[in-house]
Amino acid sequence: MRVILIGAGISNALISILLRRQYGADLKLVVFDKSKNVGGRMTTSYDSEENPHCFLDTGAQYLTLTKSNSTTTKFFQELIDDNVIELLDKENIIGMRDNTNKINYTAPRGIASVVRYYFDQAAVEMNLSKHITNIDLSASKDKFSVSTSKEKLDEAETVIVTVPPPQILTDLKGSIAQLIEDNKEVKDKLDQVKFSSRFSVGLFYPPSITSLNMPWRMYYVDKNENDCLRYLAIDNAKRNKNDPPFSLIAHTSVEFGAKYAEVDKTIIGEQVKEKIFQFLPKLPREVSNVKYHKWKYSQVIQSYPDKLGCVVLKENPLLVLAGDSFAGESNFEACIEAAIETVKKIGGLFK
Ligand SMILES: Cc1cc2nc3c(=O)[nH]c(=O)nc-3n(C[C@H](O)[C@H](O)[C@H](O)COP(=O)(O)OP(=O)(O)OC[C@H]3O[C@@H](n4cnc5c(N)ncnc54)[C@H](O)[C@@H]3O)c2cc1C
Repeated sequence: MRVILIGAGISNALISILLRRQYGADLKLVVFDKSKNVGGRMTTSYDSEENPHCFLDTGAQYLTLTKSNSTTTKFFQELIDDNVIELLDKENIIGMRDNTNKINYTAPRGIASVVRYYFDQAAVEMNLSKHITNIDLSASKDKFSVSTSKEKLDEAETVIVTVPPPQILTDLKGSIAQLIEDNKEVKDKLDQVKFSSRFSVGLFYPPSITSLNMPWRMYYVDKNENDCLRYLAIDNAKRNKNDPPFSLIAHTSVEFGAKYAEVDKTIIGEQVKEKIFQFLPKLPREVSNVKYHKWKYSQVIQSYPDKLGCVVLKENPLLVLAGDSFAGESNFEACIEAAIETVKKIGGLFK
C-alpha cells in the first residue's frame, strides 16, 4: 500500500507516525512539500553556514499541554523522554497569560525538530521543493496522481492533503478541484475556513554579541504599548540556552497582518524591523542576518464547521483533506487529536 502525503507540517508528520505504527513496515509513505524545509508552520530558520548554531522558530513557538487531556499526554511524554522538548521556563516572561491548567514545552533543537522526529520515525520518503499543482484520477481510475506544473511525480491509492483550505481552493487543479466543485456542502464549508495573517521578523546575531540587553526572554506586547508588535522572544533563551549566538523573533499583531496581507514581505519586514529597534532602543543593531516571513495563513480563526479531524473527498481511490483547519484550533494538541481521527477514519477505508 502506497500513501502520498501533501504537506510536510506537523499534521502529516503525526498522521505518518500513526499510520506506520498501525500498519507496519509494508506501508510506503511518500511526502511532498513545496517548501525547502520540513515543518510547515512549525518551522525553524537558520542563519548562514558561517553561524550554524544561530537559529530561531519563525512560526509556532512552543507546545502546550492541557493537563486534563489524557489523549495528548502520551505524545508529550514521548517527546520529553527522547529529549525533543523540555519545560518552558516561566521566569522572565512579560505579559503571558498565566494558566495553571496548561504546561508549555520548548524544543531545544528548534520547533521543526518535533516535526522531523515523527517523519524520521515513520521512515517516510521526503520530497521537498515540490509545489503540487494537480491531483488527478489516474487513467485506470484506481489511483490519484500528483503533479507539479512541470511533471507528474507519483501516484497512489491514498492521498492525504494538509494544505490550508484557502490554498487548496486556489492552487490545486484537476480531479481534486472537480470533486470539491461537485460537492456543494464540502465546497461551502471549505469556503468558510478563515485564517489570521501575521508577519514575523527574525534577527540573527553573530557570536561576538554576548547580550541583547533585555531583562526578559519572552514579551507579549500589549496592544496599548505598540500598534504593530505583539510577541517578541530571545529565541535561544526561550530554548533555555543563554549563551551566544543570540537570535530574536518578532511577530506582528493580527490587525497589522490583515492590513498588509497582500504587501511584499520584504517591504513590510523592513518596517517591522525598524519598529523593533524603536521599541527596544538598547537592542544591538549589529545583526549578521535578518529574515522576513509573511504568514498569510497563520492560525485558523474559523475552522471547518464540525470538528471532524478530516474530510474524505473520495473513498476509492482515497482522497482526504486534513490539517489544523479540521482540528478546531491551530495548535499541537488539536493537530494530535485530528491526526488520530484521520487515521481512524481512513483506516476503515483502506483497500
Ligand atoms: C506565527 C505562528 C505562531 C504559532 N504559534 C503556535 C504555538 O506557539 N503553538 C502551537 O501549538 N501552534 C502554533 N501555531 C500553529 C501551528 O503552527 C499550526 O497549527 C500547525 O503547524 C499546523 O500544521 P499543519 O501540518 O496542519 O499545516 P502546515 O504546517 O501549514 O503544513 C502544510 C504544508 O503544506 C505545504 N504546502 C502548501 N501548499 C502546497 C502545495 N501546493 N504543494 C506542496 N506543499 C504545499 C506547506 O509548505 C506546509 O509545509 C502557530 C502558527 C503560526 C503561523
